[in-house]
Amino acid sequence: MVDETDAASKPGQAGPRPGADTVDPLDEYRSRRDFALTAEPAGAKPPSGRERRIFCVQKHDASRLHYDFRLELEGVLKSWAIPKGPSLDPHEERLAVRVEDHPLEYASFEGTIPKGEYGGGTVMLWDTGWWEPDDAWVPAGHRPPRPGSPGAAEPALDPVAALDKGELKFVLHGSKLSGSWALVQMKNRGQENWLLLKHADSSARPGSDMEREAPDSASTWRSLEQIAATETASEP
Ligand code: MN
Repeated sequence: MVDETDAASKPGQAGPRPGADTVDPLDEYRSRRDFALTAEPAGAKPPSGRERRIFCVQKHDASRLHYDFRLELEGVLKSWAIPKGPSLDPHEERLAVRVEDHPLEYASFEGTIPKGEYGGGTVMLWDTGWWEPDDAWVPAGHRPPRPGSPGAAEPALDPVAALDKGELKFVLHGSKLSGSWALVQMKNRGQENWLLLKHADSSARPGSDMEREAPDSASTWRSLEQIAATETASEP
């Protein structure tokens, strides 16, 4: 901590300018260190497009039950709180409230946050897997326009730009959730309000109710009650 405080107070040692939009998340970490002199790691290369990005959905029995939807991007988990949870029904659009980025390690967290702490309550790892951008998605029965023809799709957005623009299409490869989805920002409803929706592809299940059909952990198969009981029992 002393090192960070020290570095932050030195003029001319600042990291990349704030607000720069093509910053490697580790640029600031690296700019403060000389790796010829320190044994600290320089950090892995940022994930290339070929590597798998993780996603998870945590069922969170806080003051109000909700689901936390998290996608790995830029070395963190971009996160949304979804009061009603994801739905495989393409007619269901679920409110998804953008919340703060979480560390990647959070994607394996299942347990209980003590009462009185931020987010106090039981957290279940409801679904987990990997995801990839899906700029190519088109509704069934619609052919993608030929490249170069009028109406042809714009060049594929990288997912960071897509998120900034407020519409990210992606394919999930999870235990419970799969196929093509989109997160769409409702710009007339404030910065934080998005919709999570399922595209009508072969993995869509109209009329399905995930909360009733698949309530338990994708990691340990436990129910919320079992997780809460285990965590309480193991307290010293
Ligand atoms: Mn939560």
